[in-house]
Amino acid sequence: MSRARVDALIRLHLAVGVSLSVVCTLMPAGLWHDVLYTFISFGCVAMMVVGIRRHRPPASLGWWVVTAGIVVWAAADVLWAVYNWILHISPFPSPADALYLISYMVIAAGFWCFVRARRGEGDREGFTDAAIFTVGSVLVSWVLLMRPGLESAGESATERVLAAAYPLGDLLMLALLVRLLTTTGSRTPAFRWLVAGNALLLVADCAYQYTSMTETYTGGLITLPWLLSYVCFSTAALHPSMRRLTDIGSGETDPQFTRGRLLALTLASLVAPGTLLLQLALGLRVEAWAVGLSSVVLFLLVVWRMSGLLRRLDEQASRLADLARTDALTNLPNRRTSDAELERLQTRARAEGSPLCVAVLDLDRFKSFNDTFGHQAGDSLLVAASAAWKAHLDAVGAGAGPDRSVMLGRWGGEEFVVLLLGHDLPAAATLIDSLRPTTPAGQTFSAGVSGWDGLESAGEVFARADAALYAAKAGGRDQVRVADPPGPRSGEAPAPKVQPGAAAATEPVT
Ligand code: GH3
Ligand code: MG
Ligand code: MG
Repeated sequence: MSRARVDALIRLHLAVGVSLSVVCTLMPAGLWHDVLYTFISFGCVAMMVVGIRRHRPPASLGWWVVTAGIVVWAAADVLWAVYNWILHISPFPSPADALYLISYMVIAAGFWCFVRARRGEGDREGFTDAAIFTVGSVLVSWVLLMRPGLESAGESATERVLAAAYPLGDLLMLALLVRLLTTTGSRTPAFRWLVAGNALLLVADCAYQYTSMTETYTGGLITLPWLLSYVCFSTAALHPSMRRLTDIGSGETDPQFTRGRLLALTLASLVAPGTLLLQLALGLRVEAWAVGLSSVVLFLLVVWRMSGLLRRLDEQASRLADLARTDALTNLPNRRTSDAELERLQTRARAEGSPLCVAVLDLDRFKSFNDTFGHQAGDSLLVAASAAWKAHLDAVGAGAGPDRSVMLGRWGGEEFVVLLLGHDLPAAATLIDSLRPTTPAGQTFSAGVSGWDGLESAGEVFARADAALYAAKAGGRDQVRVADPPGPRSGEAPAPKVQPGAAAATEPVT
């Protein structure tokens, strides 16, 4: 069947299904009403079978189970009609009741198959949201259906069980409907038809239960949503997108915490106090136990939901912080981290009275390396060089005491920074110089090293290292230079013309 013919079939099915449902609703109660009703329900079942066989969905179990559930439901309708119009008895409870109750469970089981397939990993939020909504509905159902039903039911235990069982069956279906809505899979047309079918079934069923407490069912307007729910279910199965119904949602993406969902959750959490207030305002009997119990469960669920959000927020924050701290290419601390670390080490050096040095390294003629071997090879060299330097610094640092620390960071581009605590200037320069032979691919670098004087800012000590690097470049590259000590500050006595070691300040170390 081509796509166009499938579309035509769906349109025909909808037109016939809706018209017959309207005709059936307008017919007076009686045998012919129920004959048409049965024709529509089994016709829809047949269309579901056509749809499933035609589209061969990858996870067909859910579809077959829902179809079976509707068959059981329709069979219960037939049984009820036979009692009513042919045998002229209306036994209660009857085998039809057993069939109705079984069909709730079967349809719910089918929906559960869909939910299982569509939920992503870690879908705790979806489950909790569905639970919150369901608990709110349990209270409403208790107040409007279950308790009045129990009170108007006869004395026999079976009648009382049935009075509670029907609303419970609806709650089960509602729970699975909401759970299906909170799964992460995509909302295809088939998904929407299925949801509409379930929703109509619930509307009809609850309306039936509500009215049947005071009057006997004789067809009427309630027939329409019941029949339309069959039409929706079969349209879902006929639609080609039914194949994708069980496509798993991407568990990675946040289950959309949309405004709609927030509103629904807010309303559901307000059901308990709202019920209490309404009962008080209207002078109705206050359902203290039901309101109290459902409030407790709702509060626990909301807190559980919030704790999930907070945990997710925590995880995201620490992942973002990691991303903000490290350089994506080399995995080294980035410039921001290196800056912060320099300031932290200044505080520590001052407190411990230990020397602090800053080295700036820059690969020589890296632009021509890129031009010759390509940017990707350049990237690989940056990764290899930083790994080799880090390994060397770690190996040397491992033998040093706890008062020494060395950090290698990527300053940007092909420039790196080394912060050395507990090394005096000559030791720092020697250590940086020992990195030269470890640089891979015959690549060379130039470096400037400055020793912190205990007073200057992070920027100033860094600028002196950078100036020494510039001198190393100017002096022919492939060398490490030691920076001049800082110049005299305003208010300080001018430094003596010749300082010990100053002459060698920008001389190559080797
Ligand atoms: P000098 O010896 O004077 O430092 O010469 P140079 O070519 O290394 O210096 P210059 O600053 O002119 O060029 C640096 C080059 O480094 C420019 C750019 O193509 C390269 N570079 C910077 N960051 C990256 C990077 O992340 N990956 C690669 N492959 N190349 C980079
Ligand atoms: Mg550079
Ligand atoms: Mg360079």
